[in-house]
Amino acid sequence: MGGKFDFIVDELQQLKDSGLYNQIRTIESSQGAWFVVDGVRVLNLCSNNYLGLANHPELKEAAKQALEQFGVGPGAVRSIAGTMSLHLELEKTLAGFKHVEDALSFQSGLNANFGTIAALVGGEDAIFTDELNHASIIDGCRLTKAKRFIYPHRDAKGLREALEKEGKSVKKKLIITDGVFSMDGDLAPLPEIVEVAEEHEAILMVDDAHGEGVLGAHGRGIVDHFGLVGRVDIEMGTMSKAFGVVGGYIAGKQELTEYLRQRARPFLFSSAGTPPDVAACMAAVRLLESSDELIKQLWENARYFKGGMKSLGFDIGLSETPITPVMLGEASLARRFSKRLFDEKIFAQAIGYPTVPMGKARIRVMISAAHSRKDLDFALNVFECVGKELKVL
Ligand SMILES: *Cc1c(COP(=O)(O)O)cnc(C)c1O
Repeated sequence: MGGKFDFIVDELQQLKDSGLYNQIRTIESSQGAWFVVDGVRVLNLCSNNYLGLANHPELKEAAKQALEQFGVGPGAVRSIAGTMSLHLELEKTLAGFKHVEDALSFQSGLNANFGTIAALVGGEDAIFTDELNHASIIDGCRLTKAKRFIYPHRDAKGLREALEKEGKSVKKKLIITDGVFSMDGDLAPLPEIVEVAEEHEAILMVDDAHGEGVLGAHGRGIVDHFGLVGRVDIEMGTMSKAFGVVGGYIAGKQELTEYLRQRARPFLFSSAGTPPDVAACMAAVRLLESSDELIKQLWENARYFKGGMKSLGFDIGLSETPITPVMLGEASLARRFSKRLFDEKIFAQAIGYPTVPMGKARIRVMISAAHSRKDLDFALNVFECVGKELKVL
Protein backbone atom coordinates (compact mmCIF):
# COMPACT_ATOMS: atom_id res chain seq x y z
CA MET A 1 0.00 0.00 0.00
CA GLY A 2 1.31 3.41 -0.95
CA GLY A 3 1.78 6.28 1.45
CA LYS A 4 -0.43 9.37 1.35
CA PHE A 5 2.42 11.42 -0.02
CA ASP A 6 3.45 9.06 -2.83
CA PHE A 7 2.04 11.58 -5.30
CA ILE A 8 4.43 14.19 -3.94
CA VAL A 9 7.42 11.89 -4.10
CA ASP A 10 6.50 11.00 -7.70
CA GLU A 11 6.01 14.61 -8.70
CA LEU A 12 9.33 15.66 -7.17
CA GLN A 13 11.09 12.84 -9.00
CA GLN A 14 9.47 13.93 -12.26
CA LEU A 15 10.66 17.49 -11.75
CA LYS A 16 14.19 16.25 -11.11
CA ASP A 17 14.12 13.89 -14.13
CA SER A 18 12.93 16.64 -16.47
CA GLY A 19 15.47 19.20 -15.22
CA LEU A 20 12.74 21.48 -13.82
CA TYR A 21 13.55 20.98 -10.14
CA ASN A 22 14.53 24.28 -8.55
CA GLN A 23 17.59 23.95 -6.33
CA ILE A 24 17.26 26.94 -4.00
CA ARG A 25 20.55 28.46 -2.96
CA THR A 26 21.23 30.19 0.38
CA ILE A 27 22.50 33.76 0.73
CA GLU A 28 24.80 34.23 3.70
CA SER A 29 25.46 37.97 3.55
CA SER A 30 23.66 41.23 2.85
CA GLN A 31 22.50 42.01 -0.70
CA GLY A 32 24.94 43.89 -2.91
CA ALA A 33 26.87 43.70 -6.19
CA TRP A 34 28.75 40.79 -4.63
CA PHE A 35 27.35 38.53 -1.96
CA VAL A 36 28.02 35.20 -0.29
CA VAL A 37 25.96 32.29 -1.64
CA ASP A 38 26.38 28.73 -0.37
CA GLY A 39 29.72 29.74 1.12
CA VAL A 40 31.11 31.40 -2.02
CA ARG A 41 31.50 35.12 -2.78
CA VAL A 42 29.85 35.64 -6.16
CA LEU A 43 28.72 38.47 -8.43
CA ASN A 44 25.01 39.05 -7.92
CA LEU A 45 23.15 39.07 -11.25
CA CYS A 46 19.78 37.87 -10.07
CA SER A 47 18.32 40.13 -7.41
CA ASN A 48 15.58 42.73 -7.91
CA ASN A 49 17.65 45.16 -5.85
CA TYR A 50 17.84 47.49 -8.87
CA LEU A 51 19.23 50.49 -7.03
CA GLY A 52 21.27 48.76 -4.35
CA LEU A 53 18.94 50.02 -1.61
CA ALA A 54 18.55 46.68 0.21
CA ASN A 55 21.65 47.42 2.27
CA HIS A 56 21.70 51.23 2.02
CA PRO A 57 22.92 53.13 5.12
CA GLU A 58 20.03 55.64 5.07
CA LEU A 59 17.43 52.86 4.97
CA LYS A 60 19.19 50.93 7.72
CA GLU A 61 19.38 54.03 9.89
CA ALA A 62 15.65 54.71 9.41
CA ALA A 63 14.86 51.10 10.34
CA LYS A 64 17.01 51.32 13.48
CA GLN A 65 15.30 54.51 14.63
CA ALA A 66 11.84 53.03 14.08
CA LEU A 67 12.90 49.90 15.92
CA GLU A 68 13.84 51.99 18.96
CA GLN A 69 10.73 54.15 18.82
CA PHE A 70 8.04 51.65 17.76
CA GLY A 71 9.51 48.19 18.47
CA VAL A 72 9.39 45.19 16.19
CA GLY A 73 5.72 44.42 15.56
CA PRO A 74 2.48 46.24 14.67
CA GLY A 75 0.46 44.39 17.36
CA ALA A 76 -2.71 43.64 15.40
CA VAL A 77 -4.26 43.79 11.98
CA ARG A 78 -4.49 47.40 10.86
CA SER A 79 -8.27 47.73 10.91
CA ILE A 80 -8.46 46.66 14.55
CA ALA A 81 -5.47 48.24 16.28
CA GLY A 82 -2.38 47.87 14.11
CA THR A 83 -2.25 51.12 12.14
CA MET A 84 0.70 53.12 13.42
CA SER A 85 1.50 56.71 12.54
CA LEU A 86 4.39 55.20 10.54
CA HIS A 87 2.03 53.36 8.17
CA LEU A 88 0.06 56.54 7.55
CA GLU A 89 3.23 58.53 6.99
CA LEU A 90 4.45 55.97 4.45
CA GLU A 91 1.14 56.18 2.61
CA LYS A 92 1.28 59.96 2.46
CA THR A 93 4.86 59.78 1.21
CA LEU A 94 3.94 57.24 -1.47
CA ALA A 95 0.95 59.28 -2.64
CA GLY A 96 3.20 62.33 -3.00
CA PHE A 97 5.81 60.29 -4.88
CA LYS A 98 3.23 58.88 -7.29
CA HIS A 99 1.42 62.21 -7.74
CA VAL A 100 -1.94 60.74 -6.74
CA GLU A 101 -4.47 61.54 -4.01
CA ASP A 102 -3.75 58.65 -1.69
CA ALA A 103 -1.98 55.33 -1.22
CA LEU A 104 -2.65 52.25 0.87
CA SER A 105 0.15 49.97 2.00
CA PHE A 106 -0.03 46.18 2.19
CA GLN A 107 2.29 43.49 3.53
CA SER A 108 3.45 42.65 0.00
CA GLY A 109 2.77 43.32 -3.63
CA LEU A 110 1.07 39.96 -3.90
CA ASN A 111 -1.31 40.94 -1.12
CA ALA A 112 -1.99 44.29 -2.75
CA ASN A 113 -3.06 42.50 -5.95
CA PHE A 114 -5.11 39.85 -4.14
CA GLY A 115 -6.90 42.35 -1.92
CA THR A 116 -7.62 44.93 -4.57
CA ILE A 117 -8.81 42.73 -7.42
CA ALA A 118 -11.07 40.72 -5.13
CA ALA A 119 -12.59 43.87 -3.60
CA LEU A 120 -13.35 45.56 -6.92
CA VAL A 121 -15.21 42.99 -8.98
CA GLY A 122 -17.79 40.25 -8.48
CA GLY A 123 -20.04 37.84 -10.33
CA GLU A 124 -21.65 40.37 -12.66
CA ASP A 125 -18.35 41.94 -13.69
CA ALA A 126 -15.47 41.06 -15.99
CA ILE A 127 -11.67 41.22 -15.83
CA PHE A 128 -9.54 41.67 -18.94
CA THR A 129 -6.01 40.48 -18.27
CA ASP A 130 -2.79 40.16 -20.33
CA GLU A 131 -1.82 36.53 -20.91
CA LEU A 132 1.62 37.07 -19.37
CA ASN A 133 0.51 38.90 -16.22
CA HIS A 134 2.22 38.04 -12.93
CA ALA A 135 1.00 35.06 -10.90
CA SER A 136 -0.32 37.37 -8.16
CA ILE A 137 -2.69 38.93 -10.71
CA ILE A 138 -3.75 35.55 -12.09
CA ASP A 139 -4.49 34.25 -8.59
CA GLY A 140 -6.09 37.56 -7.58
CA CYS A 141 -8.53 37.08 -10.48
CA ARG A 142 -9.26 33.58 -9.23
CA LEU A 143 -10.42 35.03 -5.91
CA THR A 144 -13.42 36.64 -7.59
CA LYS A 145 -16.45 35.29 -9.40
CA ALA A 146 -15.92 37.84 -12.17
CA LYS A 147 -15.65 36.52 -15.73
CA ARG A 148 -12.11 36.45 -17.00
CA PHE A 149 -10.95 37.33 -20.49
CA ILE A 150 -7.29 36.79 -21.23
CA TYR A 151 -6.04 38.95 -24.10
CA PRO A 152 -2.89 38.26 -26.16
CA HIS A 153 0.34 39.65 -24.74
CA ARG A 154 0.65 43.45 -25.13
CA ASP A 155 -2.18 43.44 -27.66
CA ALA A 156 -4.28 46.60 -27.20
CA LYS A 157 -6.25 45.70 -30.35
CA GLY A 158 -7.06 42.27 -28.93
CA LEU A 159 -8.08 43.95 -25.69
CA ARG A 160 -10.39 46.34 -27.54
CA GLU A 161 -12.00 43.43 -29.42
CA ALA A 162 -12.54 41.53 -26.18
CA LEU A 163 -14.18 44.57 -24.59
CA GLU A 164 -16.40 45.16 -27.62
CA LYS A 165 -17.48 41.54 -27.65
CA GLU A 166 -17.80 40.79 -23.95
CA GLY A 167 -18.12 44.19 -22.31
CA LYS A 168 -21.81 44.73 -23.04
CA SER A 169 -23.15 41.84 -20.99
CA VAL A 170 -21.32 42.76 -17.78
CA LYS A 171 -21.53 45.56 -15.21
CA LYS A 172 -18.04 46.68 -14.24
CA LYS A 173 -15.00 46.10 -16.44
CA LEU A 174 -11.51 45.87 -14.96
CA ILE A 175 -8.42 45.85 -17.19
CA ILE A 176 -5.21 44.66 -15.54
CA THR A 177 -1.71 44.60 -16.94
CA ASP A 178 1.82 44.35 -15.70
CA GLY A 179 3.66 47.58 -16.52
CA VAL A 180 7.00 45.86 -17.06
CA PHE A 181 6.80 42.13 -17.75
CA SER A 182 9.35 40.64 -15.41
CA MET A 183 10.59 37.69 -17.45
CA ASP A 184 11.19 39.56 -20.73
CA GLY A 185 11.57 43.16 -19.60
CA ASP A 186 9.09 44.43 -22.20
CA LEU A 187 6.54 47.17 -21.48
CA ALA A 188 2.77 47.19 -21.65
CA PRO A 189 1.54 49.54 -24.43
CA LEU A 190 0.01 51.73 -21.78
CA PRO A 191 -0.99 54.73 -23.93
CA GLU A 192 -3.10 52.46 -26.17
CA ILE A 193 -4.52 50.56 -23.21
CA VAL A 194 -5.53 53.84 -21.54
CA GLU A 195 -7.45 54.78 -24.69
CA VAL A 196 -9.25 51.45 -24.76
CA ALA A 197 -10.11 51.80 -21.07
CA GLU A 198 -11.47 55.32 -21.61
CA GLU A 199 -13.52 54.27 -24.67
CA HIS A 200 -15.15 51.47 -22.70
CA GLU A 201 -15.32 53.13 -19.28
CA ALA A 202 -13.27 50.28 -17.83
CA ILE A 203 -11.29 50.57 -14.61
CA LEU A 204 -7.58 50.35 -15.44
CA MET A 205 -5.08 48.79 -13.03
CA VAL A 206 -1.33 48.61 -13.66
CA ASP A 207 1.11 46.44 -11.72
CA ASP A 208 4.23 48.61 -11.54
CA ALA A 209 6.42 46.16 -9.57
CA HIS A 210 9.34 46.33 -12.04
CA GLY A 211 8.65 49.89 -13.19
CA GLU A 212 8.94 51.97 -10.06
CA GLY A 213 12.45 52.99 -9.17
CA VAL A 214 13.35 52.19 -12.79
CA LEU A 215 11.04 54.09 -15.19
CA GLY A 216 9.83 57.69 -15.20
CA ALA A 217 11.22 60.80 -13.54
CA HIS A 218 12.84 59.85 -10.21
CA GLY A 219 11.57 56.31 -10.74
CA ARG A 220 7.89 57.23 -10.36
CA GLY A 221 7.04 54.30 -12.61
CA ILE A 222 5.46 53.45 -15.93
CA VAL A 223 2.52 55.86 -15.68
CA ASP A 224 4.91 58.79 -15.34
CA HIS A 225 7.17 57.30 -18.04
CA PHE A 226 4.34 57.51 -20.59
CA GLY A 227 3.03 60.86 -19.33
CA LEU A 228 -0.27 59.30 -18.26
CA VAL A 229 -0.56 60.65 -14.71
CA GLY A 230 -4.25 60.94 -13.83
CA ARG A 231 -5.40 58.53 -16.55
CA VAL A 232 -4.64 55.20 -14.85
CA ASP A 233 -7.12 54.43 -12.07
CA ILE A 234 -5.04 52.07 -9.97
CA GLU A 235 -1.28 51.74 -9.63
CA MET A 236 -0.11 48.75 -7.68
CA GLY A 237 3.46 48.64 -6.46
CA THR A 238 5.90 46.67 -4.38
CA MET A 239 8.56 47.87 -1.95
CA SER A 240 10.56 44.65 -2.44
CA LYS A 241 12.25 45.42 -5.75
CA ALA A 242 13.88 48.77 -6.54
CA PHE A 243 12.89 50.08 -3.10
CA GLY A 244 14.96 47.29 -1.56
CA VAL A 245 12.71 46.45 1.41
CA VAL A 246 9.40 44.53 1.51
CA GLY A 247 5.74 45.54 1.27
CA GLY A 248 3.17 46.48 -1.34
CA TYR A 249 0.82 49.34 -2.03
CA ILE A 250 -2.03 50.70 -4.08
CA ALA A 251 -1.98 54.30 -5.31
CA GLY A 252 -4.92 56.21 -6.74
CA LYS A 253 -7.97 58.23 -5.82
CA GLN A 254 -8.91 58.77 -2.20
CA GLU A 255 -12.25 56.97 -2.53
CA LEU A 256 -10.41 53.91 -3.84
CA THR A 257 -8.08 53.67 -0.84
CA GLU A 258 -10.92 54.48 1.55
CA TYR A 259 -12.93 51.61 0.07
CA LEU A 260 -9.99 49.20 0.22
CA ARG A 261 -9.48 50.05 3.91
CA GLN A 262 -13.01 48.68 4.44
CA ARG A 263 -12.93 45.79 1.99
CA ALA A 264 -9.46 44.49 1.07
CA ARG A 265 -9.09 41.19 2.90
CA PRO A 266 -5.29 41.16 3.35
CA PHE A 267 -5.69 44.60 4.98
CA LEU A 268 -8.48 43.36 7.25
CA PHE A 269 -7.20 39.89 8.10
CA SER A 270 -3.41 40.00 8.12
CA SER A 271 -1.10 42.18 10.21
CA ALA A 272 0.78 45.03 8.59
CA GLY A 273 4.45 45.59 7.87
CA THR A 274 6.74 45.94 10.89
CA PRO A 275 7.94 49.39 12.05
CA PRO A 276 11.53 48.89 10.80
CA ASP A 277 10.24 47.73 7.39
CA VAL A 278 7.85 50.62 7.04
CA ALA A 279 10.44 53.20 8.08
CA ALA A 280 12.97 51.76 5.64
CA CYS A 281 10.36 51.89 2.84
CA MET A 282 9.71 55.54 3.61
CA ALA A 283 13.45 56.31 3.57
CA ALA A 284 13.70 54.63 0.15
CA VAL A 285 10.91 56.75 -1.33
CA ARG A 286 12.40 59.93 0.12
CA LEU A 287 15.80 59.03 -1.26
CA LEU A 288 14.35 58.70 -4.78
CA GLU A 289 12.43 61.96 -4.39
CA SER A 290 15.65 63.76 -3.54
CA SER A 291 17.95 62.26 -6.18
CA ASP A 292 17.73 60.28 -9.43
CA GLU A 293 21.44 59.51 -9.51
CA LEU A 294 21.02 55.81 -8.78
CA ILE A 295 18.40 55.46 -11.52
CA LYS A 296 20.73 57.07 -14.04
CA GLN A 297 23.49 54.67 -12.94
CA LEU A 298 21.12 51.71 -13.33
CA TRP A 299 20.29 52.65 -16.93
CA GLU A 300 23.93 53.38 -17.76
CA ASN A 301 24.89 49.93 -16.42
CA ALA A 302 22.06 48.26 -18.32
CA ARG A 303 23.04 49.94 -21.61
CA TYR A 304 26.66 48.89 -21.15
CA PHE A 305 25.91 45.27 -20.29
CA LYS A 306 23.23 44.76 -22.94
CA GLY A 307 25.45 46.33 -25.60
CA GLY A 308 28.29 44.01 -24.59
CA MET A 309 26.10 40.90 -24.67
CA LYS A 310 24.72 41.80 -28.10
CA SER A 311 28.16 42.27 -29.60
CA LEU A 312 29.22 38.92 -28.18
CA GLY A 313 26.33 37.42 -30.17
CA PHE A 314 23.90 36.49 -27.39
CA ASP A 315 20.15 36.62 -27.99
CA ILE A 316 18.92 38.96 -25.26
CA GLY A 317 15.31 39.16 -26.36
CA LEU A 318 13.28 42.35 -26.63
CA SER A 319 13.76 43.91 -23.21
CA GLU A 320 13.16 47.65 -22.89
CA THR A 321 14.39 47.75 -19.29
CA PRO A 322 17.47 46.68 -17.29
CA ILE A 323 16.02 43.14 -17.13
CA THR A 324 18.23 41.13 -19.50
CA PRO A 325 16.99 37.69 -20.54
CA VAL A 326 19.75 35.58 -22.10
CA MET A 327 17.69 33.26 -24.28
CA LEU A 328 18.95 29.67 -24.35
CA GLY A 329 15.94 27.53 -25.32
CA GLU A 330 16.06 24.25 -23.44
CA ALA A 331 15.73 24.26 -19.65
CA SER A 332 18.56 21.75 -19.27
CA LEU A 333 20.95 24.03 -21.19
CA ALA A 334 19.91 27.04 -19.10
CA ARG A 335 20.53 25.09 -15.93
CA ARG A 336 23.96 23.90 -17.10
CA PHE A 337 24.81 27.46 -18.11
CA SER A 338 23.79 28.80 -14.70
CA LYS A 339 25.82 26.11 -12.96
CA ARG A 340 28.94 26.94 -15.00
CA LEU A 341 28.45 30.65 -14.24
CA PHE A 342 28.34 29.81 -10.55
CA ASP A 343 31.61 27.84 -10.83
CA GLU A 344 33.07 31.04 -12.29
CA LYS A 345 31.68 33.15 -9.41
CA ILE A 346 28.55 34.54 -11.01
CA PHE A 347 25.08 33.94 -9.58
CA ALA A 348 22.48 34.24 -12.33
CA GLN A 349 19.47 31.98 -12.17
CA ALA A 350 18.13 29.79 -14.94
CA ILE A 351 14.42 30.26 -15.50
CA GLY A 352 12.36 27.60 -17.23
CA TYR A 353 8.86 26.22 -17.49
CA PRO A 354 6.37 26.97 -15.94
CA THR A 355 7.69 30.48 -15.15
CA VAL A 356 8.33 30.95 -18.89
CA PRO A 357 6.92 28.91 -21.81
CA MET A 358 8.46 25.54 -22.78
CA GLY A 359 11.49 25.98 -25.05
CA LYS A 360 12.04 29.57 -23.87
CA ALA A 361 14.34 28.85 -20.97
CA ARG A 362 16.85 31.53 -20.21
CA ILE A 363 19.29 33.03 -17.75
CA ARG A 364 17.68 36.21 -16.47
CA VAL A 365 20.32 38.80 -15.69
CA MET A 366 19.24 41.58 -13.36
CA ILE A 367 21.42 44.65 -13.65
CA SER A 368 21.76 46.95 -10.65
CA ALA A 369 23.08 50.44 -10.00
CA ALA A 370 25.31 48.72 -7.42
CA HIS A 371 27.42 47.06 -10.16
CA SER A 372 30.68 48.75 -11.10
CA ARG A 373 32.06 48.84 -14.65
CA LYS A 374 34.62 46.27 -13.51
CA ASP A 375 31.83 43.96 -12.30
CA LEU A 376 30.06 44.22 -15.66
CA ASP A 377 33.28 43.55 -17.60
CA PHE A 378 33.90 40.52 -15.42
CA ALA A 379 30.37 39.28 -16.17
CA LEU A 380 30.73 39.83 -19.94
CA ASN A 381 34.01 37.94 -19.94
CA VAL A 382 32.58 34.96 -18.06
CA PHE A 383 29.45 34.90 -20.26
CA GLU A 384 31.67 34.80 -23.33
CA CYS A 385 33.78 31.90 -21.99
CA VAL A 386 30.79 29.83 -20.84
CA GLY A 387 28.85 30.68 -24.02
CA LYS A 388 31.69 29.31 -26.18
CA GLU A 389 32.20 26.28 -23.96
CA LEU A 390 28.52 25.32 -24.18
CA LYS A 391 28.38 26.17 -27.89
CA VAL A 392 25.81 28.91 -27.50
CA LEU A 393 28.16 31.34 -29.25
C1 LIG B 1 7.34 40.69 -7.57
C2 LIG B 1 6.05 41.01 -8.20
C3 LIG B 1 4.88 41.05 -7.44
C4 LIG B 1 4.85 40.68 -5.98
O1 LIG B 1 5.50 41.59 -5.18
P1 LIG B 1 5.91 41.19 -3.68
O2 LIG B 1 5.99 42.47 -2.98
O3 LIG B 1 7.21 40.47 -3.76
O4 LIG B 1 4.82 40.31 -3.16
C5 LIG B 1 3.72 41.42 -8.07
N1 LIG B 1 3.70 41.71 -9.38
C6 LIG B 1 4.80 41.66 -10.15
C7 LIG B 1 4.72 42.01 -11.60
C8 LIG B 1 6.01 41.30 -9.58
O5 LIG B 1 7.11 41.25 -10.34
